[in-house]
Amino acid sequence: MRIILLGPPGAGKGTQAKLLKENFNLAHISTGDLLRKAVADNTIIGKTVKSYMDKGNLVPDNLVIELLKERLSLQDINCGFILDGFPRNVAQAQVLDKVFRDRNLNIDYVIYLKADAPVIIQRLSGRRVCSKCQANFHITNMPPKKEGICDNCGSHLYQRNDDKVEAIKNRLKVYLKETASLIGYYLKQNKLFEMDANFPAPLVFEKIKNVFSNPTRIVLPDP
Ligand code: ADP
Ligand code: ZN
Repeated sequence: MRIILLGPPGAGKGTQAKLLKENFNLAHISTGDLLRKAVADNTIIGKTVKSYMDKGNLVPDNLVIELLKERLSLQDINCGFILDGFPRNVAQAQVLDKVFRDRNLNIDYVIYLKADAPVIIQRLSGRRVCSKCQANFHITNMPPKKEGICDNCGSHLYQRNDDKVEAIKNRLKVYLKETASLIGYYLKQNKLFEMDANFPAPLVFEKIKNVFSNPTRIVLPDP
């Protein structure tokens, strides 16, 4: 199974990807995670992308595409995968289509997680991330047992620079300007499944599983 998760920041793409990975044994490919790792490792790409990411802007396509292609060369993708955070504009979607064509692969589902701005801002501004194992928590929705400390590994939690309110607002703008048009792009390819992601994560996951057992695509009416 090959899945693209589409939707605004804070729609819960990362959370659903994790559930999908655990339940269906798929590889989770998050370009945000790949980029954050490049920043943490202080690679050449990492040094270039940090300022874009901190402000909530997209990083240049060629850099994220380079990281993605490298990731797609690993063996674990053969069992299927979830793309989380890629593509984020039409140029990236076109590159992805070509990569898949060249490898004779196709995308089975593009799952569009729809969430409203107040929900997004509440989720992102309260998110805290483990500095060591990257586990995600939320100050009210999913608080750690001990404030500021990761339940899994005991390391300290931090707030991503792009989860500060100004950067969140910019990410939403960038989403509307660059990414939202991909809804139409995948609608035309008859791959789009839309769901309301304003609900808690386990409920959204149930809806995704319903799509797999009863795939009713959103189909464009005849012109
Ligand atoms: P979110 O989806 O919640 O905004 P991500 O972790 O997916 O968070 O992405 C964080 C940042 O990484 C983005 O704001 C952007 O700067 C960068 N990024 C991730 N994926 C891409 C991509 N496909 N193209 C360009 N930039 C990206
Ligand atoms: Zn941890």
